[in-house]
Amino acid sequence: MSTPPVFMYHSISPSTQPDPHRLRVSPARLDRHLRLLRRLGLRGVPLSELLRAADRGEARGLVGLTFDDGYTDYLEHALPVLQRHGMTSTLYVVAGRLGGSNQWDDGPRLDLIDADQVRAVAAAGHEVGSHTMTHPRLAGADPDVLAAEIGGSRQVLTDVLQAEVASFCYPYGEFDAAAADAVQAAGYDSGCVIGDYSPGDRFTLPRCYISPRDTAGHLVARIVRHTARLRLH
Ligand SMILES: [Zn+2]
Repeated sequence: MSTPPVFMYHSISPSTQPDPHRLRVSPARLDRHLRLLRRLGLRGVPLSELLRAADRGEARGLVGLTFDDGYTDYLEHALPVLQRHGMTSTLYVVAGRLGGSNQWDDGPRLDLIDADQVRAVAAAGHEVGSHTMTHPRLAGADPDVLAAEIGGSRQVLTDVLQAEVASFCYPYGEFDAAAADAVQAAGYDSGCVIGDYSPGDRFTLPRCYISPRDTAGHLVARIVRHTARLRLH
């Protein structure tokens, strides 16, 4: 499947505390990225909208914007920037950690949005997708773990949102065939990984990682590289 580039962000914050896993992009930098996309005639949309457009052959001029983990700084710092540029996005939340923090890594503790905030994100016109229950590595996981993390998290978010949950994202981008099959079996419409190495199928969609220091120029380079790779395939 040939889809436009999908960008992957995590935390959006002006914080200056240590960022050992390079997850944080400042709001000013996000603003420059989105301004550049607009100048290129591109509009950021959620994954589900991007794929629907691609299915109709109408994805030209669109890029996917995704934010992983569901940090509270998305509400405070990403949403206003997205709204300023008329863009929307997918926020992938860890359904078993709503209102908690990123206990899965050893970096600084960051707050995660709670159920009310999940509903607020959806009400603001953005998509909420699943990033599992507890953020485990899914490659090689047992079938019952896959069912609980992938299907279980979809059920939790469906209950919170009272709406279908279409989009899934693998923690650490790690997946195998069994995990991708489980995503499809659970009723999702797509699954996102990391890396723009090659176009995957709908349940292993590659994304471009945006690092804290990526300039607007880096973004252009990623778009060009993504487009060139699609032509090769
Ligand atoms: Zn994550």
